[in-house]
Amino acid sequence: MKKWALQCFAAIAVTCSVLPLQAQTSPVQVQWLGQSAFKITSPAGKVIITDPWLKANPLTPPEFKTLENLGKVDVLLVTHGHLDHFADAPAIAKLNNVPMYAPGDMNASVVALGILPPALAPRFNKSGTVEPTPGIKVTAVHAEHSSVINWKNPSTQQDEMHVGGEPVGFIIELENGFKIYHMGDTGLFGDMKFIAEYYKPDLVLMPIGGNFTMGPQDAAYAATELLKIPHVIAMHYGANPLAKGTLAQFVGFMKNPRIKVHPLKPGEVASFSTTQGN
Ligand SMILES: [Zn+2]
Repeated sequence: MKKWALQCFAAIAVTCSVLPLQAQTSPVQVQWLGQSAFKITSPAGKVIITDPWLKANPLTPPEFKTLENLGKVDVLLVTHGHLDHFADAPAIAKLNNVPMYAPGDMNASVVALGILPPALAPRFNKSGTVEPTPGIKVTAVHAEHSSVINWKNPSTQQDEMHVGGEPVGFIIELENGFKIYHMGDTGLFGDMKFIAEYYKPDLVLMPIGGNFTMGPQDAAYAATELLKIPHVIAMHYGANPLAKGTLAQFVGFMKNPRIKVHPLKPGEVASFSTTQGN
């Protein structure tokens, strides 16, 4: 039976580290960059970037407002077309010559508008699984939200709205089998339970800010009654004044001691190692 062990301690930039119980692979590192942006480093050292809204995100650490400072990016994932998820993704795709995986119909717009060439905007959709780089598998799953691309037409300087497809979440499976469920932006929906039971993620990245997504009480219900995933990192709060939910409120509603909330500040990292046995 697979087990994941984690121990946290205070540090300036890195908060959590791992004490393996038995055999260990390199830890999975999950760094929060504000809103729904994460830099995930796999056991084999592959770097996965999700929902990169960095330059204009008030929570993003200053060093990451320079996109080159992300280092080499191997996998780029965008859950939907809203700018607080998509804004810096095309630049990162071009910088690293890496495809931007996003809802298929959103990427159709991205190509039609000339934002990215087809090779950097592949199409897939819910239940579809892709392997953007060897050993990393990504499956798109349902999210209860909306999606549109707001775009300034460079030839007219007019603001335009274009088809953004349907928003998604992602199940991200790493080389060692560790699975991360990035929920994207979502309200509550009953099939969260199905997604957790079917894909069996080890860690969930869940929005808690409210107004646009689940708020703290909704998210705590989802975590304890629907998902029951052992590790939780909260996201999508603190960056938009309309999304007033806080981490403290979320933690206050969490009553299941078997589910651990990792309280990351922007720039901090949670690390997870695999152990075998028991
Ligand atoms: Zn959002």
